[in-house]
Amino acid sequence: MTTKKNEIKLKARSVSRGIAIGKIVCLHGKKRQFYRVNLKKNQIEKELRRFRASIRLARRQLKKLSQSESKAISQTQTNIFEAHLMILEDNSLLTKIENTILEQKINAEWAVKFVTDRYISIYKDIQDEHLRERHIDLQDVTERILTALGGIEKTPYKLEKDSIIVASEVKPSTLIELAKTDLCGIITESGGWTSHTFILAREMRIPAITGIKGILRRVKNGDLAIVDGYHGTVLVNPDEKTVSQYKHEAKRFQKLNSDTLAKSKGTFQTLDGKTITVRANLDIGIGYNQAKKLGAKGIGLFRSEYLFNQFQGIPNEKQQFDAYREIAEYAGEDGVRIRTFDLSLEQMNEDFADVQHNPAMGLRAIRLSLAHEKMFAAQIRALLRASFERNLDIVLPMISDVSEIFRAKEIVEQEKERLKNRKIKIGNPKIGAMIEVPSAVLMIEEIAQEVDFMSVGTNDLVQYTLGVDRDNELVAEWFRTLHPAVLRSLKKVFAASEKYETPTIICGEMAGSPVYSPILIGLGATELSMNVNSMERVQQIISNIALEEAQEIANSLEKCRTANEVEDLVYQFLGTKWKHLFPPELLSQPKKSEKVKK
Ligand code: PEP
Ligand code: MG
Repeated sequence: MTTKKNEIKLKARSVSRGIAIGKIVCLHGKKRQFYRVNLKKNQIEKELRRFRASIRLARRQLKKLSQSESKAISQTQTNIFEAHLMILEDNSLLTKIENTILEQKINAEWAVKFVTDRYISIYKDIQDEHLRERHIDLQDVTERILTALGGIEKTPYKLEKDSIIVASEVKPSTLIELAKTDLCGIITESGGWTSHTFILAREMRIPAITGIKGILRRVKNGDLAIVDGYHGTVLVNPDEKTVSQYKHEAKRFQKLNSDTLAKSKGTFQTLDGKTITVRANLDIGIGYNQAKKLGAKGIGLFRSEYLFNQFQGIPNEKQQFDAYREIAEYAGEDGVRIRTFDLSLEQMNEDFADVQHNPAMGLRAIRLSLAHEKMFAAQIRALLRASFERNLDIVLPMISDVSEIFRAKEIVEQEKERLKNRKIKIGNPKIGAMIEVPSAVLMIEEIAQEVDFMSVGTNDLVQYTLGVDRDNELVAEWFRTLHPAVLRSLKKVFAASEKYETPTIICGEMAGSPVYSPILIGLGATELSMNVNSMERVQQIISNIALEEAQEIANSLEKCRTANEVEDLVYQFLGTKWKHLFPPELLSQPKKSEKVKK
């Protein structure tokens, strides 16, 4: 950290390129994130009603849970829900919150935090262990009220123009909500390059920096800040000279966006004529217009679970049908591949928040869909109907056993029959499997024969092959995309893809990296799907390298025993053969202690 008068310069990791200049807005809350909003006098009455409605909703939820006969809920949990209900019936707490809204003229979320923070810190200081533990219950109840407030009304207030959000972590749903307003930059304490939030930030072209410890203690609402997503720098309270330097950079960043659209080539071929298909990873249909101008041929990955954010819960069949039909219409002839819900149990239903200790390896993705067949069948029906006269294919997430494909295909056939019997028009979507866990790689020959196409999710493939949590900052340096085990897995997948003529697309973040994409091509990739923000740079690299050179580098990596050896060789190669293609900052090899990101 360096300082210049009031200016504070913080170095961290860039996870989305670009420059943003704006005012800081601190985000709080875990399940539902919020910020302080100063209300006008005429908004206060409505805010009080919103708060009271949230309390009624939270009480109803707790009553239902404490009376539930579900086996997933034990007697101890029932007792806890009853204790929480008592807190929600404590009038002195509720009155304090209402008075805070009224007197400080602030939003309900902020008032809840203001009052409960004080209660929690008092409880934490109590000598008696039993009483001290009550702060955990209060924390839980606070979260429940905040979540209920989110359910009462969506984004009731907008961010002011040019806001930079600062948080310990930003949830994807928060980002989707806030991106509709005037959000221009993101600073967080944690979150990996492949976390969904930063995947979305890159898709939306919002500069983002992560890895700044204790950031919420170092800044306050309203501070001026600059996010430099090119160099991984944050400047808080910059002086005038710095601001004017960066204003120029920020303009260049915005201009770059519009220039890029104008000069897109629309084709991707290596110097020696190998055609590489590039598709877009998209979650918002309208983004396809831009992607297409940049040369995308269809949508390679639509993560359907994002609909849960939009509909604040499980979307019904009609809502799904409308959403899938819309995205298929945007994609047109080039087509869209829609992945069935890649959710974990707690994302599907918050009441199961603490049931799974290891959600990434728990009941999630295709497992969750097969365990909740009614929900899965409704999704399949929506997809089949949306595919009528549209180019729409289905991808099954996190396949770890071929039997999951058998069962999913049976359900597809069963729903096809049902819809046909009801004389409902349907299409004939292809069925693909996500390859993202080691067992799928080991069984790739069998999978390749069972599906129409394969989609390699390198974000999870790295996570599960190396046993490294992709969202955990503490193990970021173990998350090595260029680990020999990952490269060998990819090679095996491409070999099976060729042998059985089952097309394979790479749709993890690796595909959108200018450093990794030539290696993928050398290993045998012919289709890449990436976020819109990466297209221009990857396109430039692909059209300026020869397949033969890419194969040369991929072959030379085969002898490497460690990720460090692979990286040394890759950067040596880039610095000699392809030096002219890469800006200097990409040619300098990331320190071993940093996760390789670009
Ligand atoms: C992946 O794992 O690489 C992938 C594309 O899926 P997600 O990032 O949604 O897990
Ligand atoms: Mg995945």
